[in-house]
Amino acid sequence: MKIDTQEIILPLLKSKNIRLFIKRIDQNHDIVSGNKLYKLKYNFIEAKNQNAKIILTFGGAYSNHIAATAYFAKEHGFKSIGIIRGEQYSNLNPTIKFAKCQGMEIHYLNRSDYRLKENLFFLKKLHKKFGKFYLIPEGGTNNLAIKGTAEILDSNDIHDYICCPVGTGGTISGVINSVGQNQMVLGFPATKGDFGLKESILYWTGKANYELISDYHFGGYAKINNQLIDFIKEFNLLQKVPLDAIYTGKMMFGVIDLIIKDQFPVNSSILAIHTGGLQGNIGVNERFGLSLPINN
Ligand SMILES: *Cc1c(COP(=O)(O)O)cnc(C)c1O
Repeated sequence: MKIDTQEIILPLLKSKNIRLFIKRIDQNHDIVSGNKLYKLKYNFIEAKNQNAKIILTFGGAYSNHIAATAYFAKEHGFKSIGIIRGEQYSNLNPTIKFAKCQGMEIHYLNRSDYRLKENLFFLKKLHKKFGKFYLIPEGGTNNLAIKGTAEILDSNDIHDYICCPVGTGGTISGVINSVGQNQMVLGFPATKGDFGLKESILYWTGKANYELISDYHFGGYAKINNQLIDFIKEFNLLQKVPLDAIYTGKMMFGVIDLIIKDQFPVNSSILAIHTGGLQGNIGVNERFGLSLPINN
């Protein structure tokens, strides 16, 4: 895996005496890039060890996790089943189309049944229906995922602040587990409202050298506005860094805004993790008639 860390050059950073870098883990794969690879890595090893033939997982209709699981299941010789939240639409969205092309079997669940996704009785019923499968939870977050995301940073990443977009908290948990005591991790939730995020992160890490910054969700999960869209376009133009609208665009907007507002000490070195997710921009472009970047 070739992972670059790129320095962001802006007059703002120079004037504030702050250095900002972006770790391009989105470049770890052409199509299904970013954090989901780290989350799946040890799960797929475990599935092989258990002699599983089928991987079953849950996700939203535009989910990067569904796309990544479909792709890697195929690559590793597993059959995959995706249980999708919500109703089926007659026109398949680009994520589901992609997953189906990888051979993923797609089933839709209405939102109330979908809430049962961790219920043991419900899972038993799924096993009856589909046979023996290796279960990867929604978003891919479990202890093996966090073992994987702890490998995102390495010993060269000695920055004062590490910034990371947050969904279920699996990625930031691995990052928190891997940083040094004098490093601070800043999480930027892509969703509105906490959904037990702090409890999850405490459970996975037991550490407190992090902070969640909840001011940059832009109204909630997958909610966007013109300010965010313009920011993503300009950032791509000036920095040659394509950001996605669901996670990394919001984080980067937040990081820059906090720098403008003098929330970082002078001489800070900040590393933002580009967790990928560009496949999601294809769906966003289609839904809103936009032309956000889709290639890394
Ligand atoms: C899934 C995803 C996240 C959130 O990861 P969690 O481990 O669920 O917190 C962040 N960025 C991108 C691009 C993602 O696809």
